[in-house]
Amino acid sequence: MDIRQDIRNIAIIAHVDHGKTTLVDAMLRQSGIFRENEAVAERVMDSNDLEKERGITILAKNTAVNYNGIKINIVDTPGHADFGGEVERVLKMVDGVLLLVDAFEGSMPQTRFVLKKALSLNLKPIVVVNKIDRPEARPDEVVDEIIELFIELGADDDQLEFPVVFASSREGFAVCDLGGERIDLKPLFNMIIEKVPAPKGDLSGTLQLLVSNIDYDEYVGRIAIGRVERGSVKLGQQAIICKKEGHVINAKITKLYCYEGLKRIEANEAKVGDIVAVSGVGDVTIGDTICEVGMPDPLPFVAIDEPTLSMT
Ligand code: GDP
Repeated sequence: MDIRQDIRNIAIIAHVDHGKTTLVDAMLRQSGIFRENEAVAERVMDSNDLEKERGITILAKNTAVNYNGIKINIVDTPGHADFGGEVERVLKMVDGVLLLVDAFEGSMPQTRFVLKKALSLNLKPIVVVNKIDRPEARPDEVVDEIIELFIELGADDDQLEFPVVFASSREGFAVCDLGGERIDLKPLFNMIIEKVPAPKGDLSGTLQLLVSNIDYDEYVGRIAIGRVERGSVKLGQQAIICKKEGHVINAKITKLYCYEGLKRIEANEAKVGDIVAVSGVGDVTIGDTICEVGMPDPLPFVAIDEPTLSMT
């Protein structure tokens, strides 16, 4: 097993409006990767028209921030129960989650729904009690509610010892205890680096890239997004797509991207643990595995057509 100490892969899970978009914006601003003249658009992760229309985040999009030389890939998750299957796929790409909870509203149906999925995938959440700047905030009570929720959902002892960070995404600070000095998001970044396991995998094995999302770009067409689960992938490489239906088709990696800030950046190679986007893979769909020529080895597919309306 090779350990990628230079990466952390996380998802932020929350009830809608508890502040995911605002938190990601603040993390981007404070990670200092933006040139000074490059403003972060407001509500950056909600750029999709459909999302604007509905006012909720539908497509999981990726962002990456650098903190002390470590790249934190942040995959956004849908904020609505109807997209439960997508939450699960997204969570398969990460090694840790931030469970974001409004310090006034506390646990809401979607908090429970996404936490249940994260716990069942054996992820150990970091609880972020957000919006502590709100005058009516009741952070201590909310922490108690969350403890109860963990117990109710059958969290194991390890998961129950979740770390807590109190934050205001809007004001851009986080503290480990409520009396702490409210300066910036460093306490949150440090918690992520310390508590989220670095990705692990076999770098010398043959390529396995599990496709967890599809994007579209007007210049390069269909883009497959996923995590390199084994080996490495190179620009220009011939590959095969192991379709989830069981057959195999040929493909070529004509473009390879990693994430930096809000952008996809072209890369020559990506390794086990990296979250990447590739194009040149025309017929690819969610659930397929991209492998080396002659080495088909599909990963299990996470079904998404299950009924997801139940919140229990
Ligand atoms: P999302 O649906 O989880 O992405 O939530 P948003 O980031 O869009 O935030 C929803 C609303 O809560 C917006 O009006 C934000 O301005 C507000 N909000 C987000 N974070 C904070 C915070 O830390 N404090 C306060 N007071 N409001 C916040």
